[in-house]
Amino acid sequence: HSQELARLERLNLIGQLAAGISHEIRNPLTTVKGFLQFLGARKQYESEKEYIDLMVSEIDRANSIITDFLSLAKVNSDNIRLKNINEIIGKIFPMLQADAYNNNKEILLDLKSLPEIMLNENEIKQLILNLVRNGLEAMPEKGKVTIRTYCTENNVILEIEDQGAGIPEEIREKIGTPFFTTKETGTGLGMAISIGIAQRHHALFDFETGRNGTTFKITFNTADSICEI
Ligand code: ADP
Ligand code: MG
Repeated sequence: HSQELARLERLNLIGQLAAGISHEIRNPLTTVKGFLQFLGARKQYESEKEYIDLMVSEIDRANSIITDFLSLAKVNSDNIRLKNINEIIGKIFPMLQADAYNNNKEILLDLKSLPEIMLNENEIKQLILNLVRNGLEAMPEKGKVTIRTYCTENNVILEIEDQGAGIPEEIREKIGTPFFTTKETGTGLGMAISIGIAQRHHALFDFETGRNGTTFKITFNTADSICEI
């Protein structure tokens, strides 16, 4: 897969850049935000409050791009431990539910018994969060996102399924390109980060998409664990 290799090289380069400059950008942004808020609180700037609030929220947006950007660079290989994905899902479920509940949507769990495998827990949390958020965002009105896990002979499988309108064919190959987004306030980094995480776990990252929704599927290898049935 030469296309896949090119994608990995891009991610590597982005990661190095991110580590180098993100902190340097964040500090001045924090200063500017602080002074803006200070000015915004003054009576004499009451009529300009709207502009000041807009500037502050744009600084917040820049900051969240940097946060996403930084996690592209993070490779914490020393944090890899034997873990059960279902337990990780259990830990972030309340947060995911809150995300969904605010928007009249639902998160369903369909978790089968799994063996422990070598995982970086923080990265797996981020992977699930990115995919669930995309699923929720793909359903403008309402709908369900299902988190499914199961085990086959040599694999632990994680699926995130939504009931959105699917990923249009013409953009499918752009999925995973840093900064590619079709959303007005998107960062276009969620998929790139998720693919990087799957790669570092030597897992297969795949998706199926159509009019009735999208299912992301991450296939992890079990060394020699056997599924309980
Ligand atoms: P962002 O969510 O900030 O746009 P991502 O990297 O997470 O960035 O996703 C990139 C793009 O991939 C999205 O803008 C969207 O067009 C598409 N996409 C990702 N997940 C889904 C999904 N579940 N359903 C439909 N489109 C999706
Ligand atoms: Mg996203």
